[in-house]
Amino acid sequence: MTFSHMSRRTMLKAASAAGALAATSRELFAQGAAPRRPAPLPLRREFVIRGATVLTMDPNIADLASGDVHVRDGAIVAVGARLTPRGARVVEGRGMIAMPGFVDSHWHLWTSLFRPFVRADVDAVGYFPVSNRLGQLMTPEDSYRSVRLGVAEALSAGVTTVHNWAHNVRSPEHADAELSAMRDLGIRGRFAYGPAQGMPDDQVMDLAGLARVKRDWMPNDGMLTLGICSRNVGAMSIGGAARGVLTIEMVKKDWGGARALGLPITVHTSGPSPVMQLEEAGLLGPDLQLVHPLLTTPEERAILKSRGVSYAMAPTGEARRPSAVGVIQLGEMLEAGVKVSLSTDHTTNYNCDPFVAMRILFALHQHRIGNKIPLSLKRLVQLATLDGAVDLGIADKTGSLTPGKRADIILVRTTDINMTPVGDPYEALVSMAQPGNVDTVIVDGRILRQAGKFATLDHARVVREARDAAMALRDKAKWPT
Ligand SMILES: [Zn+2]
Repeated sequence: MTFSHMSRRTMLKAASAAGALAATSRELFAQGAAPRRPAPLPLRREFVIRGATVLTMDPNIADLASGDVHVRDGAIVAVGARLTPRGARVVEGRGMIAMPGFVDSHWHLWTSLFRPFVRADVDAVGYFPVSNRLGQLMTPEDSYRSVRLGVAEALSAGVTTVHNWAHNVRSPEHADAELSAMRDLGIRGRFAYGPAQGMPDDQVMDLAGLARVKRDWMPNDGMLTLGICSRNVGAMSIGGAARGVLTIEMVKKDWGGARALGLPITVHTSGPSPVMQLEEAGLLGPDLQLVHPLLTTPEERAILKSRGVSYAMAPTGEARRPSAVGVIQLGEMLEAGVKVSLSTDHTTNYNCDPFVAMRILFALHQHRIGNKIPLSLKRLVQLATLDGAVDLGIADKTGSLTPGKRADIILVRTTDINMTPVGDPYEALVSMAQPGNVDTVIVDGRILRQAGKFATLDHARVVREARDAAMALRDKAKWPT
């Protein structure tokens, strides 16, 4: 079944008014596929997490060796010892670390399907050539399945907020598909609306489409926010062919369009740094996130600090790059006072593992800088949680266990063989933990995972439909053979 764009938009508007946007939107973009009926999300109930080691990540609320977290109506009501609200269910926290969920500040979820094709050690089928070629063949249904797979992995690893770098928005239906996948799985996040693979560099991004998403999807229930992901700036750099490269004049058009709508911007700086160019053009501001701080100078870092620009690090992939294209500059960023955050980037040739991301950052910091710029393990956990929320502008909602914030909480088992016996909980998280230790995942007060399993999401279906979509894309491309 197909619909014209106009009738679809009209229907979306009507559906939105009726509070039924998600189901209608899903049916509309399915393009011949059976209408999607995702399992309903678990209800937001009142409960108390009891007897956990509580790491609040709130500078004003002390950690508790054994404490409770009370949740009601999707919000954190109280953090303390021996809380006994009447009628609240008990979620057993003994033997667990309770902490805010991880905030992943940059992730190309639409490429999650490409795992069977991308090779880390064969350039011809590296991440960029594969995603650029197969990306141009993706249907909205492919986008949905890819983002759903990525979000399912994020939740499994304890990520409760994700910044979805969607630079393959090939049509309004592709945008709706990605947003639907995020909403169907119940994760919090920002959708960064981007260009499409293969789009000419001298073509302005789809600003009308961006405005349409803002109108139809935001602010909904507050779970999703909106921004843009920009093509690279200035000289051709790593990934330039896949992400596109803009002149400053084109940057002004794309970014100006986003800013006119009050939307934030994210852009990669892989390769030669564009910071001075952007500063001279007056384009830096607190609504801008840069990605991959590898080649900045002290002068640039001072400018970034003064302009309030943030920087997302993705250490798992960055550590694989040759040192000629820069080194991970966490120490320099912290010393300069630049806002930084942690991210997965993509999951085509590594998995989502916030614990490993912290571990790699710590190892590389010690290796290159050591105690010249002190870096505590607690600071790393803060980077992966609260600082990500600050970067995405949602620290009033998430990033710490603070009464009044939304309940985005994970429980990490300390009794697993790779963790036990636990001494300092930050040591355990950064040096020992892995996604398999994440027992319970709560987003906005909904218990999405417990005992390491999804409460309602059909795991087997996610796997089957991702594989089917990947194989169909390969057949359509007749490549890689
Ligand atoms: Zn990236």
